[in-house]
Amino acid sequence: MRIGGIEIMIDYSWFIIFFLVMYTMAELYFPQSHQHYSVAQYWIMGAVSALLFFLSVLIHELAHSFVALKYGIKVHSIRLLIFGGLAQVASEPKTGRHEFLIALSGPAASMALGMFFLTVYSFVLFGGSPTPVSAIAGWLAFANVVLAFFNMIPGFPLDGGRILRAILWDRWDDVTRATKVVSQLGNGFALFLIIFGILQFLVTQSLISGLWFIFIGLFMKQSAVGSYQAVMMQRTLAGVQVRQIMTENVVSVDWLIPIDELVQNYIYKHQFTNFPVFNRDEFVGMVSLEGVKTIAKELWGFKQVRDIMTPVELVPCLSPADDATEALSKMVSGDIGRMPVVENGRLVGIVSRRDILNLFKIKSDLGVA
Ligand SMILES: [Zn+2]
Repeated sequence: MRIGGIEIMIDYSWFIIFFLVMYTMAELYFPQSHQHYSVAQYWIMGAVSALLFFLSVLIHELAHSFVALKYGIKVHSIRLLIFGGLAQVASEPKTGRHEFLIALSGPAASMALGMFFLTVYSFVLFGGSPTPVSAIAGWLAFANVVLAFFNMIPGFPLDGGRILRAILWDRWDDVTRATKVVSQLGNGFALFLIIFGILQFLVTQSLISGLWFIFIGLFMKQSAVGSYQAVMMQRTLAGVQVRQIMTENVVSVDWLIPIDELVQNYIYKHQFTNFPVFNRDEFVGMVSLEGVKTIAKELWGFKQVRDIMTPVELVPCLSPADDATEALSKMVSGDIGRMPVVENGRLVGIVSRRDILNLFKIKSDLGVA
């Protein structure tokens, strides 16, 4: 699904949470707050609430994305995850002010949605007695306002953390230091949630609500560290092109050699998991360990590399002028260890994930980051 050129991806965890929200609403919330409906009605109300809630989360993320696009930051996709979404941007904002506005737009959208549902709620109530519509609108008003406030907590990776980072970035003129501070705050808040969840479980003996806090805390802790690393990586590798880090002397294989020779003389010897394949001096494809595994061992002497290679038309390639960060994100998302670099149809080098990570390590060690 695409909205305004942004791809919307739904994580499998989304379905679990969708069901959980629907279940909680249908079995617990609505029967308690609004009596006299049938079980079927509660479930329909639960499903509608869950659907509109996720639509609200999507609108929150779209708000971030559209403001980012306005400042010339490319947004590839939005991934809908457990506790909302994640807009995947290709680059970092250039100034603290842009970051501030991009981060603020999400909670602002949630707040506006909350007000919208509150208006619907009041309107229906004003017209007479409570109905399923007012019940759903009332809960959505509440949920969106909670979403807005929760996101304003000043710790990475929440929007509030980004806003605080923008302010500190502006004040200190040092994005690295600002990033570090808000990551630590995010980490601290995540720990607080986990401890709070454990305490709640011990005091109330209610497993579900305690688990929710622990769950959110663990998720935040992981993201706080992950987004800090991502920010540092993007900063360190900014402006580095693929041509600067690629290996030019590429070990390649001829497409006519048998598979057992490929295993003995190439895979064992060089310990790479994939190799470019050549027919004379033409680059025709890539052969990988995965391809070898598709052929039974007894047949390794009879089958050739060309039988198991991925033809060049289907091989994801890089160009020498590509950004190192973009190359890395391509390799990570495709789970590829080494990627060929091609210029005008000719193989000019190969880049591995390890090379990029090593460069990152070296540059951070030298304090160039
Ligand atoms: Zn947000």
